[in-house]
Formats: sequence, C-alpha cells, structure tokens
Amino acid sequence: MTEPVHYQQIGRIAVLRMNQPPINALGHAMRTALQAAYQRAISDDAVAAIVLLSDIGIFCGGADIGEFGTEAVRQPPSLPELCSTLDQSPKPIVAALHGTALGGGLEIALGCDYRIATPQTRLGLPEVNIGLVPGAGGTQRLPRLVGVPAALEMITSGQPIPAAKAHEIGLLDRLVEGDLLTAAVHFAEELISTSAPLRSCTTLSVDTRTLSPSHFDDFRASIARKTRGFVAPERCIQAVEAACRLPLAEGLKKEHDLFLECMATPQARAQQHLFFSERKATKVPNVSPQATARRIERVAIIGAGTMGGGIAMNFANAGIPVKLLELKQEALDKGLAAIRNNYLISAKKGRMTEAQVEQRMALLEGTLHYNDLADADLVIEAAFESMDIKRTIFTKLDEVCKPGAILASNTSTLDLNEIASATRRPQDVIGLHFFSPANVMRLLEIIRGSATSDEAIVTALKMAKIIRKVPVVVGVCFGFVGNRMLEPYGREAHRLLLEGATPAQIDRALTRFGMAMGPCSMFDLAGNDVGYLVRESRRGDIAHDPSYNLIGDRLYALGRYGQKSGRGFYRYENREQLEDPDVIELAETIAKELGIERRAIEDEEIVERCIFSLINEGAAILDEGIAYRSSDCDLVWVNGYGFPVWRGGPMHYADEIGLDTVLAGIERYRSRLGTHGETWFTPSPLLERLVAEGRRFGDALTQVAANTR
Ligand code: NAD
Repeated sequence: MTEPVHYQQIGRIAVLRMNQPPINALGHAMRTALQAAYQRAISDDAVAAIVLLSDIGIFCGGADIGEFGTEAVRQPPSLPELCSTLDQSPKPIVAALHGTALGGGLEIALGCDYRIATPQTRLGLPEVNIGLVPGAGGTQRLPRLVGVPAALEMITSGQPIPAAKAHEIGLLDRLVEGDLLTAAVHFAEELISTSAPLRSCTTLSVDTRTLSPSHFDDFRASIARKTRGFVAPERCIQAVEAACRLPLAEGLKKEHDLFLECMATPQARAQQHLFFSERKATKVPNVSPQATARRIERVAIIGAGTMGGGIAMNFANAGIPVKLLELKQEALDKGLAAIRNNYLISAKKGRMTEAQVEQRMALLEGTLHYNDLADADLVIEAAFESMDIKRTIFTKLDEVCKPGAILASNTSTLDLNEIASATRRPQDVIGLHFFSPANVMRLLEIIRGSATSDEAIVTALKMAKIIRKVPVVVGVCFGFVGNRMLEPYGREAHRLLLEGATPAQIDRALTRFGMAMGPCSMFDLAGNDVGYLVRESRRGDIAHDPSYNLIGDRLYALGRYGQKSGRGFYRYENREQLEDPDVIELAETIAKELGIERRAIEDEEIVERCIFSLINEGAAILDEGIAYRSSDCDLVWVNGYGFPVWRGGPMHYADEIGLDTVLAGIERYRSRLGTHGETWFTPSPLLERLVAEGRRFGDALTQVAANTR
C-alpha cells in the first residue's frame, strides 16, 4: 500500500500530497499521515509555508463514513482536531483544490489559511444529506469566510457549488488555470515574499452587520417545505447561529454537540442507509465481473408521448443525440413541441439559457422511419401499453437495429420476457422503467428478463449514471418492484374509504407519516382511468374480492379521472384541491351495497394498514427474488413514490420499528377486519421467518429470482 500522504519540499514550501484513491477519505490512517506531514513541515525551519493538495483525481471526498459508529472515528487526531491543528498553524497553509472538495475534505481546506482551485472544482458540505451537520468545523468556519446567507445555503442544501461561485463568495482566494501544483507553490511563495498574514478562522468573526434580525427565521420559513420532517437542516441552522454568537472554540463545541445529537437519530441511520443502498444497488448478483458496458452514443426512442419526451430530455441533457420515432408527423410535432415547451419553462425559471434550450433541441431529431434507427446503440420503446403494439415494435426493431444494440421497453406492467420473445436477440432486450415526469424523477427500474445478458445490464447501469438516475435492477413480475408494492398500499386506501375514512383524512394521515403525497391525491394525479385499466388487465387476480378498489372503478365510470378531468377523489377548481361530499356519499352507497360497516377510523390505523401492507409485499418480492435486497425496495420507494427519505424506505422503517411489530400488526388486522382481513392480511413467509429468527430485512440474504437468474 502506498503512503496516504507524500511529503516533498520545493524551495521554502512543504508540499503535502494526499494519495489514497478513490477519494482520499479521511479515515484514521489518512488523518495520522496528514498530521505527521504537517508536524514535519512545522518543525523544519527551512519551511516557510505549506501547500496541501491531492495526487489523485479529486482533492478529497470527505470523512470515511465506514468509520462512523466505530472507535476509529475518535482515535486522535479526530477530524475536528486535525482541522483545528491546521487552523492554528504558525506557517501559512494553502489548500489547492481540484475535482471535488466535499464534507470533511472541504473542512480540511477551511482549516487552511488560503484556498485556490481549478475552475472545474466543486465544493460542498453534503453532510445534511446523511442526516448530519458538518462536524469538523464547517458550520463555524464557512460563515466566517463567506457570510451567513451563503453558508446557510450551502450547509442546509448539501449541494456542492462550482469554483466560480466559491470564488465569488470568498470561499476561494484564487482560481487557477494550468498546473495546480505550480500555481499553488507560486501562490505560497508570493505569500512568503509579501509577508501575507495568517488567516486563521480563530481570528475572524462572522460578519452579521447586514443581516436583518429575522434573517434566520426567514431562512427557516424559506426551506420549510423542502425540509419537512427532517431534523438535520434545523440543527445546521442552529450551528450557524452559534457561529454568529460564539468565539470559534465555543462554536466548535456547540457544533460537536449538534453533530452527536444528529448522529444518534434514526434519521441519520435512515439517510446513511440510503447512501450505502445506492452504492450497493449497482452491484448486481450473478453478473459476470468480466461483463463490459457497450458504448451508448446514439439513442432512439419509440413514442414521443409523456414518457418518450421526458426520457429523450434526459439524454439531450447529457449531450447524447436522440432520434424520436412516431407513426404520424402530427404526433411527432406535438411531442417535440412539448419537449421544447418544457425546456422553455426551465429557461423562464432561470435554470438554463435560451442558447442551452436550442443546444438541447438540436440533439433531438424526429423520424417516421424505422430505417433511421439502424445506427442507434440503444432504443427505448415508450409507446402505448399494449402487448400487441410492443411485440410489433420489437419485431421491427429486430429487423432494423444493428447487432449489439440494446433494445429496451419502458413498460410498467407487461411481461418483458414475452416482449423479448418477439426478437431473435432476447439477450439484448431489457426493461428501462422510468417514472413520470421522466426528466425529473431519479428512479430507474432496470428490468432483467430471463434472457437479458450481463452486458445489457452493465450497459443499462452505466447509462443510468450518465443520465444521473438511481438504478435498481429487478426481476420480472406484474408491476416489478415499485408498482407491485403500490398495489396493496393503494388497495388499503381504497378500502378505508368504504370503511369510513375520507380521502382528505387518508392523505393527511400519510403525509403526516412523511409521504410526499397522500394516496388519493396520487391516484388523482396519475389518473383513475390509468388505475382502472391496470385493474382491467388483471381482473382474474382480484375478482374474489368484490370490494377491491370498487370506489376507484365507480369514479372511473363517472368520468372522474382525477386532475385531468377536474374531478376524482377530490374536486379541482383552478388547481385547488377541494373535498367532495359526492365522493363520501359514493363510499357510503358502496359500503351499504357490500354490507361494510362504516366507523370512525384513527389515523394510526390508516398508516399501519397502508404501510404494513406495503412492507409485507416488499417481503414477498424479496422472497421471490424479484428484488435482490431490501435496500433496493427502499431505493425504489424513496426515489419513485415519495416515501420519506428520513425514514430510509419502507423496509428500513420496518427494521427500525421491529419486524415483530409489523408482523403483529398484520396479524391484528387479519383477525380484526373480517373477510377483508382474512383475504389480504397474510404475513409473507419471509417476514415470519425473520421474526422467528430475530433478524431484520437488512440481513436477509440476496436472492435471485428463478425467472431472471
Ligand atoms: P402516451 O400515450 O403519452 O404516449 C405514447 C406515445 O406513443 C404516443 O405519442 C403515441 O403516438 C406513440 N405510439 C403509439 N404506438 C406507437 C407505435 N406503434 N410506434 C410509434 N409510436 C407509437 O403514453 P405514456 O404515458 O408516455 O406511456 C408510454 C409507455 O410508458 C407505456 O408503456 C406506459 O405503460 C409506460 N409508462 C408510463 C408512465 C406514466 O406515468 N405515464 C410511467 C412509467 C411507464
């Protein structure tokens, strides 16, 4: 193993070069090496200044999260101690940044006297995304350097900023082109020759002169919606408030207390679980390590409707040219116009320039001819949800596409294996299930058919990275992972309406639990016609329960499709959602027809019935090997269905409250809800097994479905 830090002397400058791929994580070995190199520079009289930089692709990605919760994190020098040591250096230290300086990496740089960076560098304190406040001085030093507004924004959003912005707000002293080491040494020499002062944060205070007295409260109000339910953003704000009030040493102590407080919350565990889950999800069982990704330089999309248009935007945003195929010119024109309109809305909001709109549109080309798809590396079909149509399209693609092209379907419910069988190359067929709006939603379910090749899977994973999606590889079943778990969740919401809850009560109970949107609002948004058609396609499976989503069917029959028709589970007036007594009356009528007794229902029952059913289905999916790990189900529900991030996903939430609690709840409703309970509240065998063994979903073994491998 190479040394974590190289020491080199150039003239009167000691150069400390971090060299621990892939991210120079600040684990104990790296901290010790940095401290030792620093001491060497300080005790050498021939050294007048120090430069700290990285020998690898980035400056530093931050703390070693793997150390969290272990003794190693406290072993001296701890990260806060190391930052304070640098801060008190009697010789000027220049941090020279490239790539990224994130979290602890940026905090190390904040402990230095001066900071320079290449223009491509990104700087950020993303700790809030894992449920924490920056814990190595970030909340105290950053506001001293850049002021309160910029510091609050960076710390509570967790979003990295580009170097130019960092320079503008005073986080960077200089932007440098060309060789960074040369520029850093030159800068340090300049500091020596001009006897530039040390700039320790111990000697700086936060400039609060231009802050209004209500600044912090105004800021709280401005992020309230985005941070609903999260603990860490408020603690971040409190830490910055402390920086304004207290000398550095005391502020650091306050920050440490807030850090420990956050670290002990279930939220921090949940957010760290999701962080690791995203990384785990790209390691797919039974894929050969030798499988290599194919190049994706040209993409084609069949169908320029809601999904096709959104999917195309992802590729255009990544600079990849896209051909959009429709059957009629009119549909093509409409699809391209909708995409342009979407971009123009972003431009109006200041998120992109008009020139960028044109650049992206220039990457999109419409066609009516399959022969134009001959050179596509990847084709994504997003036409109507009909097996006949999809089979016809895939037969055609098989005729015209070059060998090795990946042929993907965006189907939500259809059997991918049957679609693949329409081609002579089922190994190249895969499901790419995007979520609506496809240019916004981060989730991408990658569906692995029984013949899908390893190369197709790794290519899809690589593509997901390029277009910045969170990929989760899943097996073939009705609804895959996300929609299959949605089914029992939605079923309970529908049934609760018949038993006496109102749409508003159900939505309120679940949004209080933390869901981004309640189920009734979600049905209205997605369209009750869509839900009805899905039920139609599987009547055989649900026919034994006459109450099954019956209120949804009746709303459909009344033309109450949801937002698109102005009426659904609610009424809509000028985009305002209003409760509708007609819906409650309809629920009463159906309940009477079916002999369902109506009663007052507690919010707790609503949450338990919907969420426990969701968890139980997740367990069944795991048992069948359709999802490889419980954390994959969590990623799907957090990124595709608005499950609260701070609860870590449904399966992690179940692990937190105890699988015995979930099992007991399911058994309770089974006995309490009569025929409905007996029909639907059957615990999954996996849930029962894990409870019997005292284990959690998190430790359940990865399975591989028989129909996928
Ligand atoms: P849509 O009706 O908005 O668009 C479908 C487009 O496909 C239309 O523009 C139509 O003209 C075109 N088309 C139909 N048949 C075609 C053919 N043979 N050749 C070329 N073009 C054809 O539908 P959508 O909502 O974009 O859904 C498309 C697919 O994506 C469906 O399989 C659907 O299940 C799936 N999906 C939809 C959502 C969603 O929320 N809308 C989410 C995930 C997946």
